[in-house]
Parts: sequence; C-alpha cells; structure tokens
Amino acid sequence: MKGKSISRATSGKLLLGVDIGGTKVVAGLADARGKIVLTARAPMAARGTPEKGLDSVFAALDAVFRDPLTRRVRRIGVSVPGWVDSARGVLTRAANIPCWRSFPLARRIERRYRMPVFIGNDANLAALAEAVWGAGRGYRSVFYVTLGTGVGTGIVLDGRVYSGRTGAASEGGHVSIDFRGPLCGCGKRGCIETYISGTAIARCARTRLRSPAVRSSLLFRLSQGKISSVTTEIVARAAARRDSLALEILHESADRFAIWLGNMVDLLEPDVIVVGGGMGKLMLSFSPRIRRALGSWSVSPRYREIPIVAARYGAESALAGAASLGLEEFRSAGEGRP
Ligand SMILES: [Zn+2]
Repeated sequence: MKGKSISRATSGKLLLGVDIGGTKVVAGLADARGKIVLTARAPMAARGTPEKGLDSVFAALDAVFRDPLTRRVRRIGVSVPGWVDSARGVLTRAANIPCWRSFPLARRIERRYRMPVFIGNDANLAALAEAVWGAGRGYRSVFYVTLGTGVGTGIVLDGRVYSGRTGAASEGGHVSIDFRGPLCGCGKRGCIETYISGTAIARCARTRLRSPAVRSSLLFRLSQGKISSVTTEIVARAAARRDSLALEILHESADRFAIWLGNMVDLLEPDVIVVGGGMGKLMLSFSPRIRRALGSWSVSPRYREIPIVAARYGAESALAGAASLGLEEFRSAGEGRP
C-alpha cells in the first residue's frame, strides 16, 4: 500500500473511492477537502470471468481496509469507464472491462463489505470531483471535459451528475462536428474525439509528416525519421518552440475544439467549463484563440462570461469523484435503489 502523509486536517470524515480501469484498480481515501490521503492498487483482470474481475476490486479494497483510518468509512463510491445505470448500481457495459456485462457491481461489493455502494461513470465522477472540491467548486452548473487518449465529458447541475434516463447521457466526446469527418471508434463520423484526442493529434501529425514539403520543420527533426512513432508530446514540444507545422496542427485542433465547445455552450450554458486530462493543459495554452473562435460558434450573447478553467485533478480525478459519492449531499447515484 502506498501511504501518503496524513495531515491533521484529515481527522474528520474520510471517504472511500475505487477507480476501476482496464488494467488496474485503485482504491483510496479522500479527506473532507478532496485530498487523496491513501491509495492501494491491484492489477485488474478485465478479460476473464466476472468473478475474477471482482476479485481484483476486492484485492485493492481489502488493502485499503487494512488501514485503521477506514474505521470511519461508511460508504464506498466506485468509478468505471463505461455505461453505468447508477440508480440500479449496474455496470451496463465498459469497452475496457469486457468481463462484466449488465453486472450488478454495487450489490456484489455491498455483499462483501456490508455498507452502501454507489457507482458512476469515470468522466461523470471526475466532473463531480471538480464540482465538489476542484475548479468547479461554488458554481451551480459545471461542464467538464477531459482530453486524453479519448474525450470524456461530465455535467453537474446543482451538485448532481446529470446522466440521462439510463446513464447514457453526457457522451460529449461522441458529439459530431462533421458528418463527413473521420470515422470514430464508436461508429459515427466526425466526433470531436477524432480531432482533439491525443490519439487524433498524433495521427494527424504522422499524416502531415509524410509529405516531403515538411522535411525542414522542427517537428520532422524531433521525430528523428520515425514518423510512425510521433506522439502528441513531440508535437507539443515543437509547438512550444514555435514550429509552424506543429502550431498549425494544434491550431486546427483548437479551432475544432471551439466549434464543439460552442455547441456545448449553446446547449447547456454552464456557469463554468472545466478542462482536464493531459491534452487539456495543451489545449488551454491556446485559450485566447479558442475564446475568439467561440464567438463564431456560440449564439449565446453572454458566452464571454463563462470561465474556461483548468481542472484541479489529474490522474486521480475519477478516484476523487468516486470518493465524493460518499458525501450524502452529492450522492446522485444510487437513489431509488433498494
Ligand atoms: Zn465517436
């Protein structure tokens, strides 16, 4: 178990969250201010039987429960990267966790630890963590977007995650901005994920680098002739040194992000937009450009008043969000479930 120094401020309520991913499970305790004070992890057996998958979750949770601090834990919040029916505590489907389909995850964890368990989608819970403890704190409506290998979104209204009729809402990454655009992994065309995810930017860079006309660019030199292994980090590095090709690629992405963000603003008019994920920082470095473009892509007369801010949480966002489900007032999941 990886312990972190526990300050006196944590002597109050401690909240237990579990972040289940395709390769690992992280269980952790958060203090009343949303600081993660203790974590334990276990490898996730995502491709075996449902029971083996469950054993991975139990391994991480058991490790945390060995710590005396957990004596004060009364609930468990669980994050999963997929479609979740929070009201019933059922994981409907998660692409990276094929061992579970329509799996009663909450009930199975409850049976072992004898306390209420609430589950939610990872992007939704990351949004909740930002709304409760992070960059969205104090705002009534929070629109959260995380830019990483994919694009995830979460909507929090009055401290509650909006997840739709069956938990399938807020798939903002798969909102299309061009019906003739690139084919997305989801089957649709032109989803914003096909333009601004880390994967998409690296792919775009590789395509552009194949043209002989760009041989003199810094991006080409940084790729050291290995075009197929160019990453978004290399593009970012070249852009930081004002390489015109790298800047062109990122400006295009920022412009598309603005088109999409305009749609989100016109649909939701949130009080704040919180941008997270590894690629989020990179996109926010183009904030003035995005703000300018937003003027053309939002009809809202007061779009300028909406702050666009960086997320507080990085890799621990879903874990923090899962833990926040332990706060009674923010527990949108689980209501109505017997
Ligand atoms: Zn898609």
